[in-house]
Amino acid sequence: MSQTYYLLRNREVPDIGQIEVYQAHGGYDALKKALTQYQPEEIVDLVKKSGLRGRGGAGFPTGVKWGFLAKDGRPRYLVVNSDEAEPGTFKDRELIEHNPHQLIEGMIISSYAIGAGEAYIYCRGEFLEGYEELTRAVKEAYDAGFLGENILDSNFSLHLFVYRGAGAYICGEESALLESLEGRRGNPRLKPPFPAVAGLYGMPTIVNNVETIANLPPIVTYGAEWYTSMGTEKSPGLKIFSVSGKVNRPGNYEIPLATPLKTLIDEYAGGMQEGRSIKCIIPGGSSVPLLMPDQLDTPLDYESVLKAGSMLGSGGCIVLDDTVCIVKASARLVKFYREESCGKCTPCREGTYWLADVLERIEAGIGDQADLDTILDVADNMNGKCFCPLGDAAIGFLVSAVKHFRDEFEAHVTERGCPLEAKVYDTVN
Ligand code: NAD
Repeated sequence: MSQTYYLLRNREVPDIGQIEVYQAHGGYDALKKALTQYQPEEIVDLVKKSGLRGRGGAGFPTGVKWGFLAKDGRPRYLVVNSDEAEPGTFKDRELIEHNPHQLIEGMIISSYAIGAGEAYIYCRGEFLEGYEELTRAVKEAYDAGFLGENILDSNFSLHLFVYRGAGAYICGEESALLESLEGRRGNPRLKPPFPAVAGLYGMPTIVNNVETIANLPPIVTYGAEWYTSMGTEKSPGLKIFSVSGKVNRPGNYEIPLATPLKTLIDEYAGGMQEGRSIKCIIPGGSSVPLLMPDQLDTPLDYESVLKAGSMLGSGGCIVLDDTVCIVKASARLVKFYREESCGKCTPCREGTYWLADVLERIEAGIGDQADLDTILDVADNMNGKCFCPLGDAAIGFLVSAVKHFRDEFEAHVTERGCPLEAKVYDTVN
């Protein structure tokens, strides 16, 4: 197994979060190179050529998004989305807690490229440690002259603010995030206009994920061709996958895109724990349809995972083993989306409520056969009809679970409870 870490390359270095240790390992060299050897638009070009795609989940080409910024002379902002809350996803958390300067360096380069004079990190409320690390690291960067006026004697100035949210999944949706950052309740805005045209305080704004922006230093250091030499033509580069479930080594793994799912699970994550086998896999965070064990050869790039019937999403790879009750897992996830729905639009607010209610009934052994059709009917009434992606996210896994494991849902109805739990109970007693 060849190790290709770049964003995680210094994870074993003690105190890499301290600016002098970061600099001793080449930190801020990419910023110096960017400010002295590149014009801002050349960096936008470099990012376009690298093919870097948004790592928050949508996979939108970063350079193309930067190119959408309104060119009318108004102030521009960069906002980094560090509101990582997708179940099964914990990559940004490691990046901010362990190596905050890598993100800050990426933000300074990105702000220089897009012409932003102010940049914000919107940090998930629960990420207290990450927030404190970032706040400390930002101060170090100011003291070292990497932030503030005339950075490294150039005519580029940048002010960077770290903001802590209050713990709402919906604030990971970029327009709800901007509302929250402006001090209002985190409800999503209608798009278009996209933030690139009217974002923070109505100004042209780029919202990018932590991992996306952390890719800037290596791309400036090694170049676009280095990045496109990994992955596929449409999905170039590296991506961090968070692997969870009953595998031997759960954790974050940075691998070239198009690496087969089987390699991620067996070689990087050490395979399944003894006595466990794979029931199904959610490859991209809990918002996407599941893949079955006979799809383990699927290459982990945006196009191949889509072709296999799911989405690469945030790269939160949840491995469900044969002891997992699919009804219980579905009920648990839908309850999460019900709790996190902002309630602004009817299909999401009512849909998640009713789905959670019906699933709870089935799980408790008091459902009936018609409930399965009700689930699919409610899901159909939500699909593509909600104000923001949260509604679709709530049904992605559920609909695929009913499709692949309908017999297990039906067994909960006919056997008045979970047959799997009964089996486990029999073995234990
Ligand atoms: P999207 O496809 O609507 O947009 C992606 C990005 O491209 C946005 O920044 C958007 O502003 C920009 N964009 C798209 N079209 C544009 C245009 N014509 N002009 C200018 N900009 C344009 O997706 P989204 O709603 O931002 O994200 C959905 C994804 O988020 C899901 O796929 C899910 O996987 C992921 N997600 C991640 C987490 C997490 O914790 N990482 C949590 C929830 C959801």
